[in-house]
Amino acid sequence: MEDGIQGFRCKNCSAALPVTADTIAVGCPYCGELNVLKPELMGKLRIVPPLGEDEVLKKLEELNNSKSNRVFQRSNLDWFERVIVPIYIVGVKASLVYDAIVVVYYKKCRRTRKNQEECWIESVNVRVKGVYGPVYNEIPVVARRGVSIYSIRALAGEFITEKPRDYSLNETGLPKGYWRDLLAIELDSKTAISMAVDEFLDEERENVKILIKREAESRVAMHGRIVTGSRIARLVLTPINVEAQTSDPIAVPLYYAVFKDENGFYRVYIAGWSGKILLMEKPAGRLERTLWFTSGVIASSILAWLASNAYSLNPNGLLLAMGAMSLAVYISYYTARKTLAPMKTIVKTTLSRTPSNPSGRWFI
Ligand SMILES: [Zn+2]
Repeated sequence: MEDGIQGFRCKNCSAALPVTADTIAVGCPYCGELNVLKPELMGKLRIVPPLGEDEVLKKLEELNNSKSNRVFQRSNLDWFERVIVPIYIVGVKASLVYDAIVVVYYKKCRRTRKNQEECWIESVNVRVKGVYGPVYNEIPVVARRGVSIYSIRALAGEFITEKPRDYSLNETGLPKGYWRDLLAIELDSKTAISMAVDEFLDEERENVKILIKREAESRVAMHGRIVTGSRIARLVLTPINVEAQTSDPIAVPLYYAVFKDENGFYRVYIAGWSGKILLMEKPAGRLERTLWFTSGVIASSILAWLASNAYSLNPNGLLLAMGAMSLAVYISYYTARKTLAPMKTIVKTTLSRTPSNPSGRWFI
């Protein structure tokens, strides 16, 4: 090791590398050479070859023909870049043993002396036990600490769905300097596996909850009762036979483009191997903003009306009323934000980026 702040230098050009204690592999910011610092933690990097910048821009230009909108032109291009995102694909298989108590609500009615129908809600506790699975799922894990950016998760999701072919390093002729765009690899495969297992269990837990409620409700309905809903009062969930296996990290290309016209900025995130648009944020027009405002006022007043009526209808009404009220508050808040915001934000990203700060733009 020579001097330099971090002590690591590029094996090709000897420039100091931006590394932290967690860095496993990084692209040299000067010459673009791939430097693997801890090969024992990573396996062999695989590559999904990117489309060229020209091809991506051409695909965006084709979108202009399908609509009246002509914003995707090179003359409107304000920013364009590529990021290489390292992703592990972890296959997880497990079964879940469940034991739950579900409160099932049902409606009871009777005739009064004046021959009017009077109804109320009663509840019964149902115990549900069983085994769910085995279930298998593939979970993408970005090999970078603290990446929870929506665009990158969308890229990982698209990658899992599309399964583009990946290659070894020597199979592909990558342009010189390619690895300059690499998000440094910081997660080893063991960490990736444990993160994937956690995510898998969280997801399957939700599926098991749906199944449990459905089973409890149908048991009560079998007795001829009119079920109105249910809630899980207690749930013990134990994963068994958990098996997990990860791929080597795969370098997946993502393009990011910003176009500008008289309405404002259009931000586009593109799957780098296919040119497919993953996400787009575009400016909202005046009419659209007015519509958001109107629908917000209507929706929240209907809900407020529901809230006041739900309370007088039945004994569980208070909860319903509170639910409807908070939904109403949320909707007016949301639509007010839509009305005021200059951007129609299709997704929320945590990106804040300026061309003058080329490092660290992609992270919080
Ligand atoms: Zn270098």
